[in-house]
Amino acid sequence: MSPIAHSGLGLLGWELVAARKTWRTLALFVFAANFADVDFLFYFVFGPRPLFIHQYYTHNLLFALGTAGLFALALPKGRDRGGLILVGLSHLAADLIVIDPVHPIGIRLFFPFSNRLFNFGLFPYLQRWPAGVVFSAKNLAVLMLEAVVFVLPVAVLFRKKFGTYVRSREFWSS
Ligand SMILES: [Zn+2]
Repeated sequence: MSPIAHSGLGLLGWELVAARKTWRTLALFVFAANFADVDFLFYFVFGPRPLFIHQYYTHNLLFALGTAGLFALALPKGRDRGGLILVGLSHLAADLIVIDPVHPIGIRLFFPFSNRLFNFGLFPYLQRWPAGVVFSAKNLAVLMLEAVVFVLPVAVLFRKKFGTYVRSREFWSS
């Protein structure tokens, strides 16, 4: 999925579990929710290399648990850390239900212990290649659908609380 859906899941996790509602903890939850797509970022920055194969090395339970576990050390012990790790895992759950048109199809959930690919493609995918189709009407529709399914419910459910947090001095404190 795109960063819109993953960020919606990060926001949901933050709303539900973060004990300290600050911009830093919000950024951390959103970052952890998106982090597995670092392969895509590297692919763009460094060009096509085996290590950056689409969802090949960063989309598995070990990577998600390991990286989210590391990020969680920045949070207080207990609920916050568990919540952040779940947010890291939510990335895999979201990507599992997307139709994957790019080879290898699916993600290797149990890498490095198994190379079996998993995919339950139901949700429309965002076409990232070639450059000409990135700004297509179909991609815009996919992004809007992700926003409606993954961000809008969180925004509606927590709108009052979120407004209170953002207006509080604690939110902006370091
Ligand atoms: Zn991903």
